[in-house]
Amino acid sequence: MKDYDIAIVGGGAAGLIAAWAAAREGAKVIVLEKMEKTARKVRISGKGRCNITNAERYDEFLSKINTNPAFFRWAFSSFQPNDIIELLEKYGVRTVTERGNRVFPESGKAWDVATAILDAASEAGADVHIFKEVTKIGVTDNKIKSIEFRDTENGNQAVITVKAVILATGGLSYPRTGSTGDGYGMLEKLNHHIITPLPSLVPLKVKQFEFAKLQALQLRNVEVSLEVEGTAVGTEFGEMEFLDNGIGGSTVIRLSRKASEALHKGQNVALAINLKPALTPEQLVDRIKRDVRSGEFTTAESLMMGLLPRKLVKPFAAFHKIGLKKEVADYTDADISKLARTLQSTRLNVGETAGFDGAIVTMGGLSLKHIDAKTLQSKKVQGLFVAGELLDLDGPTGGYNLQIAFSTGYLAGKSAAKQVKE
Ligand SMILES: Cc1cc2nc3c(=O)[nH]c(=O)nc-3n(C[C@H](O)[C@H](O)[C@H](O)COP(=O)(O)OP(=O)(O)OC[C@H]3O[C@@H](n4cnc5c(N)ncnc54)[C@H](O)[C@@H]3O)c2cc1C
Repeated sequence: MKDYDIAIVGGGAAGLIAAWAAAREGAKVIVLEKMEKTARKVRISGKGRCNITNAERYDEFLSKINTNPAFFRWAFSSFQPNDIIELLEKYGVRTVTERGNRVFPESGKAWDVATAILDAASEAGADVHIFKEVTKIGVTDNKIKSIEFRDTENGNQAVITVKAVILATGGLSYPRTGSTGDGYGMLEKLNHHIITPLPSLVPLKVKQFEFAKLQALQLRNVEVSLEVEGTAVGTEFGEMEFLDNGIGGSTVIRLSRKASEALHKGQNVALAINLKPALTPEQLVDRIKRDVRSGEFTTAESLMMGLLPRKLVKPFAAFHKIGLKKEVADYTDADISKLARTLQSTRLNVGETAGFDGAIVTMGGLSLKHIDAKTLQSKKVQGLFVAGELLDLDGPTGGYNLQIAFSTGYLAGKSAAKQVKE
């Protein structure tokens, strides 16, 4: 195999945009991807529709970035949402902007995005290889010298000389897409500090068994608060969903970053669910009183069927110790108040997250203090650049995480190309 200026480790969103950016500057670029195809994660992103980016205002966008928006500003300014939209359009992917400024391919197909970024990298001149697992970054006198990899089809090993490496191996979430955290070990060997990677944007597993078998039940217009050590640390309104790997849905997913952090610290974490957030406690009591007096409902079970989705009634009653057979005619004011209270406050203890297998993104990663924000080059190894989810940067749902990958990929690619020319 010939020698290259730049080897890019990982052909995901960050790696392919880095390859495009570096190759169009005239650098000789090789992309080494260990899976059987590039950008597997992009292909399943946004439930197969790929929420490419978010078209909200520059400062608004930046303010949503964890952990260090000021660091990300450099990469973001170099390649913004309009830039990825323009690039995709050039490769035949028209986009549409939906509610919440979320940008999707008009076709509704994430595969189109994955194909377009691969085409862009290849057409710019990058050589993209699949089934190539990078095992070592060769460094001499704190300078990049070579890269070693293994052909996963035939086991053959190879070493090539390079002037720069862009590490874009992703985090640990959805490991079946190829993101198995390889980059962390490579960076640690080169004396870089890794902030403990944790699952984020992830369903949460609750301890209460009553709610364990409610798969596929979706609740709309609920209010969910996250409590850490008994104190509310965030509240979200919207939907929640009982999944086979825990409780998800937009409310819980938005709260999951803080939950994951707290669980990691060994703190007590709970979800407080208000199933009737549109009503004040008094209004809810009045509503139940009206139902009780209407004569329409005979038992507590039928009364609750009118208040809750059918599937939720039994586990909810078991959890709150509400007798379903009790005659509505026997309901006292105290019974009605208790029912109203429980409907507005069900507290579920969270035992763990659904883990990396179910996490949309990994929080933590390469400590940003080792990286120059203006170039994304390591401060410890000359010629080593890092991009994408491997960095200690992450965002909420809504297209932020792919934009982090695109922007950091672009800046790393452009900076590496500039450096190898010098
Ligand atoms: C189910 C799901 C849905 C998502 N939906 C969205 C969405 O709609 N919008 C959004 O903004 N974000 C979404 N995300 C997050 C987003 O997809 C990721 O943040 C983004 O793809 C990260 O890009 P990356 O290039 O840094 O890493 P990855 O996409 O993880 O790519 C890393 C690549 O490196 C390769 N690799 C790893 N180790 C090696 C090695 N040793 N040698 C060679 N290759 C290696 C891997 O095989 C992989 O192809 C979603 C994530 C998931 C899991």
